[in-house]
Amino acid sequence: MIYECHVCKLEYLDEDTAKRCQEWCENHNSCNFLIAKQAINKEEMLKQSVTDERFKTLDETK
Ligand SMILES: [Zn+2]
Repeated sequence: MIYECHVCKLEYLDEDTAKRCQEWCENHNSCNFLIAKQAINKEEMLKQSVTDERFKTLDETK
């Protein structure tokens, strides 16, 4: 079973992490890298500019 964050479309193997990602995405309008790095499709999503922008935003918030 794969769980997807409906906001950023990252996919997770456990529902709990997917929910945390989705909550974060809805509240912060970006991805939490600590959550996103657990996504099973992150390599694929990083190639897509929309998600890439989100990851870039994270770097700037440090
Ligand atoms: Zn997300």
